[in-house]
Formats: sequence, structure tokens, C-alpha cells
Amino acid sequence: MALIVQKYGGTSVGTPERIQAVAERVKRFRSQGDDVVVVVSAMSGVTDALIKLARSVHADPPVRELDVLLATGEQQTIALLAMALEKIGCAARSYTGQQVHILTDNAYGKARIVKIDETRIHEDLKKGHVVVVAGFQGVDDLGNITTLGRGGSDTTGVALAAALKADECQIYTDVDGVYTTDPRIEPQARRLDRITFEEMLELASLGSKVLQIRSVEFAGKYHVPLRVLSSFGEGPGTLITYEDNDMEAPLISGIAFNRDEAKLTIRGVPDKPGIAALILGEIGKANINVDMIVQNVAADDTTDFTFTVHRGEYKKALDVLKRVARELKAREVSGDDKIVKISIVGVGMRSHAGIASQMFKALADEGINIQMISTSEIKVSVVVEEKYLELGVRALHNTFGLEKTGQPAS
Ligand code: ASP
Ligand code: MG
Repeated sequence: MALIVQKYGGTSVGTPERIQAVAERVKRFRSQGDDVVVVVSAMSGVTDALIKLARSVHADPPVRELDVLLATGEQQTIALLAMALEKIGCAARSYTGQQVHILTDNAYGKARIVKIDETRIHEDLKKGHVVVVAGFQGVDDLGNITTLGRGGSDTTGVALAAALKADECQIYTDVDGVYTTDPRIEPQARRLDRITFEEMLELASLGSKVLQIRSVEFAGKYHVPLRVLSSFGEGPGTLITYEDNDMEAPLISGIAFNRDEAKLTIRGVPDKPGIAALILGEIGKANINVDMIVQNVAADDTTDFTFTVHRGEYKKALDVLKRVARELKAREVSGDDKIVKISIVGVGMRSHAGIASQMFKALADEGINIQMISTSEIKVSVVVEEKYLELGVRALHNTFGLEKTGQPAS
């Protein structure tokens, strides 16, 4: 007998039939004797529709009122799921974030959970009820309704699991787990049985979209065993957990990619203190986030900088850089928005040398030129021409033996 928190995303509760299917699944866990707390998202499309509705009344809706409106999406789903559970003989109680005191700060639209009072939930569980809680929402200390940011129901699930000291937090979604890479790019991609929190965090921030980044951080911090699995089928999914010394960890766990990048270069700026701060400071002032940064070794007292930004901000960044270049009398500004970033991630890199060179060789063998490189303890990222995305991902997938059989090809 275990205490399990299950979170179902928008697609998993997207129609009345799917809500009924969720109820059946919850009932199966109850029949095994497990205590179940369910966290749900709004039915798919509802949050987007509510945002649109708000904008039709006010082009830039006041954030407090927008949260009051958006919280109604999840409130619909909790009631519907509780009804579906009651119908099949499973006693259930639904609660909004406010009712179970999911206390947050008052940053409307991106609030952070501060505390959860779990007494009421425990009382219900003791009576044999399934507890259904609205994801994505909370209440600040003055009683204002808040929301946690898009995808925030993942974080509600993890936070509740932490507060209740649940045995597992299961995130049900439309894929059956975390894959070595996107199966749409590499058909040989394989579902991982397990992955570490660190690797999952890197993959999420490097472009994999399975979980809200904040929920992974939260789970790592509070030691919540997290499992990603499909609500449309059976199967063990992927367990996200701490590094297990008994297990022989693969060198590389996954390959992430990001098509949303663009690079900019400024050449011939003075090689002296304060120049990097000045250039990137101006970019920052324009509210543009910078990802990778490379500075060349200086020659003839001048140097070059290259950095990447989100592709949507390419034009804006180019304008800022051209202005800076005039002020600094730089030689030239150039840019390219037809690039992608490909990254390999794995905790095995810590204890094995030569992973990066293996990666570079695999790309070279395919004739793929590497434009930029950055590394951290458990990842290596490269920037390459956009047209090499598929080829590059597949070459790396093969080189590191990630395909279904688990056997390296050479
Ligand atoms: N309903 C919210 C959204 O669409 C929260 C969630 O689904 O996790 O972003
Ligand atoms: Mg979601």
C-alpha cells in the first residue's frame, strides 16, 4: 500500500471520455489499496481560450484578474473528475488550490509555492476518499488567487507529493516516458527506464519539453521520486531519480536539440577590460537573454565575440549590436539565424574522458562543421548549420549506442 500523487495534463483530461478513462485508472490504484491524490490541468485548449477571452476584453489584462480567470480552467476539471470517480463507485472530493491552502508568493502569473497545509488531504485519505486537487493555482497570504505559470500543474503535483511525503509522483502525459532523443527525428530513439534529476534538468533546459523545468528542480530538491508515463496506455514510463551507484550508468543518456537559436558576431573590438560587459550589458538592457558566448583570442589588440540568442529576438539583438559596433568602432557585425544547438547529456561524462572528442569526430565523419562549442560537467553542446540537425542527432545517437538494441554500431 502506497501513497501516490498522479498528475494528468490537459490532453489526458481533454474530453469527457478521457476524464472517465482517468477515473478508471485511479480506481485501479485504489482497488490495490493505494491512497491516491490526483492533480489535474485544465482540459486541453481551455487555458489558451481563457487567455484569448481576457484579451478580447482588455488588450493587456491586469495580472491579478487574469489569474482569477485562468484558475477556473482547472476548477472545471477537478469537479468533472470527482463526478466521474463517484459514478464508478470511487468516493472522491475535489479541491481548488485555495481550499487546500497551497500558499504561494504574490507574483501573479508565475507564483512560487511557499507552503502546503496537508492536514485536510490526510483526513480525506483516511476516510478512503480520492482527493482531486486543481493544478497550476494557489493563494497568497492575503487570499488572492495566483497561478504558477504555463505548465504549472507539474509543479503542483510535485509540491503535493513532497508535502504529503508520497511514495511516488506520477506525471501522466501523451508520451510514454523520456526518450534518448525525439523519436520524430531519430526513429531508433528509446524510452529510458530511468534518468537522474540532473540529466533531466539539463535535457529540459536544452530543449526537451516533457516536464516543466521548475517541477524537476522541486523534485530534485525535495527528493520526490518522479515518474513520467502515458495516460493512453500501460507501461513503466521513466523514473527520474538520484544517481544509483549499483547501476552501470550509460555514458550519455540523451540528446537534446534546440531550433530556436540564432548567433551574432562582432569583430574587431578593443581587447581591454570592460568590453564584454559593455556589449552583453547592452543586449541585457534590451531584455534579450544570451545563451552561449565565445570570445576569440586577441590579435593586434582587437578581438571578436560570438553569442547566441533566441531566434525570435535575432533582429532586435542585431540592431543593438550594430549600434554598439558604431560606438566601439568595431570592424564588422554579422549574424546567422539558420543554426541549431545539439547537446549530449550524461552523468557518465564526469568519470570518462574523451566524450567531447568522440562527439566532434562523429560530426566530422558526416562532414558537419561545428561553429561553436560549450561544455558543462554533464553536457557538451555544439552549434551547427540548421540543415544538419537530423543528420547530426542521428550520428550522435548511433555513436553513443543509444538505439533500441543498446549496442554501439562500431
Ligand atoms: N493549464 C495550465 C496550462 O495550460 C497549467 C498546466 O496545464 O499545467 O499551462
Ligand atoms: Mg501541461
